[in-house]
Amino acid sequence: MDEMGKEIPNDAPWNAPHAEEWDKITMKELIDKLCWTTTAKNFATLFVNVNVTSEPHEVSALWFLWYVKQCGGTTRIFSTSNGGQERKFVGGAGQISEKIAERLQGRVKLQRPVVRVDQSVENITVETVNHEIYEAKYVISAIPPTLCLKINFNPGLPPLRNQLISRVPMGSVIKCMVYYKEAFWRKKDYCGSMIIEDEEAPIGLTLDDTKPDGTVPAIMGFILARKSRRLANLTKDERKRKICELYARVLDSEEALHPVHYEEKNWCEEQYSGGCYTAYFPPGILTQYGRVLRQPFGRIFFAGTETATEWSGYLEGAIQAGERAAREILFELGKISESDIWMPEPQSLDIPATPITTTFWERNLPSVGGLLTLVGFSAFVTSTVVLGLTVCKKGLLIRN
Ligand SMILES: Cc1cc2nc3c(=O)[nH]c(=O)nc-3n(C[C@H](O)[C@H](O)[C@H](O)COP(=O)(O)OP(=O)(O)OC[C@H]3O[C@@H](n4cnc5c(N)ncnc54)[C@H](O)[C@@H]3O)c2cc1C
Repeated sequence: MDEMGKEIPNDAPWNAPHAEEWDKITMKELIDKLCWTTTAKNFATLFVNVNVTSEPHEVSALWFLWYVKQCGGTTRIFSTSNGGQERKFVGGAGQISEKIAERLQGRVKLQRPVVRVDQSVENITVETVNHEIYEAKYVISAIPPTLCLKINFNPGLPPLRNQLISRVPMGSVIKCMVYYKEAFWRKKDYCGSMIIEDEEAPIGLTLDDTKPDGTVPAIMGFILARKSRRLANLTKDERKRKICELYARVLDSEEALHPVHYEEKNWCEEQYSGGCYTAYFPPGILTQYGRVLRQPFGRIFFAGTETATEWSGYLEGAIQAGERAAREILFELGKISESDIWMPEPQSLDIPATPITTTFWERNLPSVGGLLTLVGFSAFVTSTVVLGLTVCKKGLLIRN
């Protein structure tokens, strides 16, 4: 997958040499081609479930390969140490929005979904569901593309964007937090990360979510894609019981059955998210509509994590997209030059990401397909040599 990803440009996956071919197939079809054993297929399925909260048969192979590539590849996206799951905010990620809102001193308006954007007039007017009207020279839309379906645009969106917004659904996930009196798994020298493939298991991935100072011991787990749909109709208590029984089995510990508290959030029920973590592209959409994702429409500019070119689907991508859209407007206002619109996101100074390294065997062991080609090739060479020797011995082969 990383090899295939190398040919996909972060900012224009539709220009990849095999874009059309890979966009016509789902990840399920690609997995069936690439993976030869049930074990590999099951893990590849979980890999898709965990990373994009959807099923391999739902997503375009081109889109998923691009998604993994723009997160730095299979190891970076899936790892905790030196990977996508490594860093958390002391005090919680919600503080980012809260602190920005504080600095903006009352200018962030909550509980006022936008229902209409009119740019037929001199200033753009934005109307909220409670009939407030705001005026601006420019608008940045930073919502998932599909949520634009809830907004009336005047004039109407151009044809490609108008169709794009009904073609990129959101993923499905229920985030589940189980709190314990103590982090009992640590006594067994377990880190709290579980990767669970069992079809009957509600949770696919867990992480230790105990606070950095060791207080509030907790395990965070995701109910992913098909399982979030399957388990949505259970009661909260039923899900909690199933999850604790699973943890008891995986961690081989009776203590898992006795949580002190349980919280869960089904993101599929959120009217103004539509699901999580991010939008996914079914087959055929990225190559046909991807080009308009970031294309401004009049004085409306588009941000949101789905429009990012690095860590799209994550907070990091949302920030890259927001800053890029803001600079697009600064350029429109003549305040910066066009070449300043795209700036690389700075590395963390505290804990810079280190390069992903691979072992000798990871680099050099052939895949099953590669092995069979090799065996087939050496069998061909051996039989040709044997045949050559035989023919030569019988005096049939003319030699100079
Ligand atoms: C369970 C879960 C776990 C995740 N884990 C991680 C993680 O570990 N690391 C990570 O980096 N990312 C994670 N993500 C993804 C991350 O949350 C998103 O990538 C990020 O929030 C996207 O930011 P955004 O600003 O593009 O969109 P959003 O955060 O979705 O913000 C869009 C905002 O627009 C509002 N809105 C929608 N429609 C309207 C409207 N009509 N008018 C006005 N406002 C509107 C919404 O209410 C929302 O507040 C996770 C997501 C989920 C759901």
